[in-house]
Amino acid sequence: MNQHVTIIGAGIVGISAAMFAQSRGFSVRVIDKVPPGEGASFGNAGGIVVSSVMPTVHPGILMKIPGWLLDPKGPITVRWSYLPKALPWLLALGRNAMPDRVRKISKARAALGLRALDDHRTLLKHAGAQDLLAMDDGLMIYGTKAQYDGGATWRRVHAEYGYKGAELNADEAREVEPDLTPDIYRAVFWDGWHRIRDPHMMVVRLAEQVVRDGSEIVQDEVTRIEVDGNRATKLHLKQAGEEKVENLCVCAGAWSHELARMLGSKVLLEAERGYHLIMQNTGIKLGRAVTHAAQPGAVTPHHDGIKIAGSDEIAGNDAPPDWRRAEQMHVYGKRLFPGLRDLDGSESKWMGRRPGTPDSLPVISASPKLANVWYGFGHGHMGLSWGPTTGRLLADMLGGTTPNMDLSPFRIDRPM
Ligand SMILES: Cc1cc2nc3c(=O)[nH]c(=O)nc-3n(C[C@H](O)[C@H](O)[C@H](O)COP(=O)(O)OP(=O)(O)OC[C@H]3O[C@@H](n4cnc5c(N)ncnc54)[C@H](O)[C@@H]3O)c2cc1C
Repeated sequence: MNQHVTIIGAGIVGISAAMFAQSRGFSVRVIDKVPPGEGASFGNAGGIVVSSVMPTVHPGILMKIPGWLLDPKGPITVRWSYLPKALPWLLALGRNAMPDRVRKISKARAALGLRALDDHRTLLKHAGAQDLLAMDDGLMIYGTKAQYDGGATWRRVHAEYGYKGAELNADEAREVEPDLTPDIYRAVFWDGWHRIRDPHMMVVRLAEQVVRDGSEIVQDEVTRIEVDGNRATKLHLKQAGEEKVENLCVCAGAWSHELARMLGSKVLLEAERGYHLIMQNTGIKLGRAVTHAAQPGAVTPHHDGIKIAGSDEIAGNDAPPDWRRAEQMHVYGKRLFPGLRDLDGSESKWMGRRPGTPDSLPVISASPKLANVWYGFGHGHMGLSWGPTTGRLLADMLGGTTPNMDLSPFRIDRPM
């Protein structure tokens, strides 16, 4: 008889785990309160950015944060009413920006990126969805010499891991992307930065394949998990009541810490809320993802328009979206593409919760407390990039195979 696994969460991580577990002979049931891909995986910027080895917060960015926090329109904000709750996570974020931690974190992030593109290809091929992968390297724009000089460490660390950017001057950059601003000191073409044309569609198409291969995906919410001795035994579902579990994977994005707590593991996780703005009839042409070194974010092609994504708002899972932050994405887009048309209300806006750990590393881990529980969450800004690899590593652990890399930096009980 096949072994069975229940996976909580049908985002890129949960669906990738489902597909890899199936390929190892498991029968799979995925449970999500919303349809596949409608969490954070819905509207991200679509970057498979395996060259992003530095943690989200590092010494180069640490100095900019106070200024950003004081600017209500800045790229990072903390809702003041939420500050007391977020404080332990924020303090841990600061600890992890120290140089020795940054070195260790970068090494672990680089290791995770090594097979990310192959794992994407494996899943996309199995689902017949290779058309969603675009191999057009992303372009980073430095507006001034100061910005360029400020990015020296970042570029050096990338180069140490083999990601060498080709440098372009303003004219060369505008040859590649003619509608770019002329205010360019230098541009860098990054290898190791590819693109999924529609990240929501990727999860939907993988999920459809998972169902064709015999798995179940059910829409329900897990409200409680029962434990008996060293095993998780039962889920309590909002609609369907109780059901037994044989093996359990928690891939529940920004809600995973709540479920982990029910299973005896405490972990620091915050929703790093990001926004996007999708515009049609933009007045500009765009062939690849473009980002500005002055602040985090990206402008990417999206169907017959563009998507501008970014922002990091710490306000908890439940606070209502602040749609001014999505509109602020337009300012970011305009800085890169001055010909971008004005907002006219036809744009679509979205807010998603990045599941962020304070050390910018995901949790990919067997439970230290329970013999039949595994975790895959906390991918922060990199969940699309690393989701398929996490799914493969979880399937390895479930099947009793020793994964082919050191997973100790990703343990759920690591000090953060
Ligand atoms: C603006 C923005 C831009 C981004 N850009 C990029 C990018 O370019 N590249 C990149 O790699 N990453 C990017 N990311 C990050 C990426 O989107 C996330 O890291 C990734 O989607 C997380 O996937 P996940 O499967 O862990 O979580 P999710 O997609 O959120 O899936 C988790 C699922 O668990 C379900 N769930 C939770 N609790 C329960 C429960 N109790 N019962 C049932 N179901 C439950 C939720 O409904 C949800 O569907 C971006 C994110 C944002 C917001």
